[in-house]
Amino acid sequence: MITVYIAIGSNLNDPVNQTKNAIEALKNLTKTQFLQASSLYSSAPMGPQDQPDYINAVVEIQTELTPIELLNLTQAIELEHGRVRKGERWGPRTLDLDILLYGNDVIHSERLVIPHYGMHEREFVLYPLAEIAPNLKLPGGIELSNLLLKVDKNGLSVWQ
Ligand code: ATP
Ligand code: MG
Ligand code: MG
Repeated sequence: MITVYIAIGSNLNDPVNQTKNAIEALKNLTKTQFLQASSLYSSAPMGPQDQPDYINAVVEIQTELTPIELLNLTQAIELEHGRVRKGERWGPRTLDLDILLYGNDVIHSERLVIPHYGMHEREFVLYPLAEIAPNLKLPGGIELSNLLLKVDKNGLSVWQ
């Protein structure tokens, strides 16, 4: 079993419910044990600013799925939750599931980059992750607590 962290983001069609439903869907993944979910957070959009705020959370699971199997299943969940892939990068979406870490593996394939390439500078990933795994070390021994020191909250707050 490998410990995996997945980031959830949504800013369309009732993002709070989208996020809660995504957590439920991750609880039902095959060959996987659900460990914990962070609180839900509210964050300002990255990239295009003419879109609603986001709801974010991070989930910890243990899985026997391979990285690509997990990507296929999380992309299927995105589609089941109404995600339409459009041209615009970082545009609004009903649901985004990004695989942050897969144990200590480092992966650079066409479909998968792990650790997720943006996680080191995204407050809406790092703070929820630190809530559930404060002592986490990334591959290469990078301490999550050190990354947090360099990343402003940018208005990120626990939802409600
Ligand atoms: P960003 O990746 O900057 O957060 P995004 O999440 O909106 O942007 P998507 O449209 O969800 O981007 O994904 C684009 C592609 O990224 C996917 O088709 C997938 O193959 C690839 N990808 C690479 N690494 C990962 C990862 N660690 N988790 C999820 N998708 C990944
Ligand atoms: Mg993303
Ligand atoms: Mg994504």
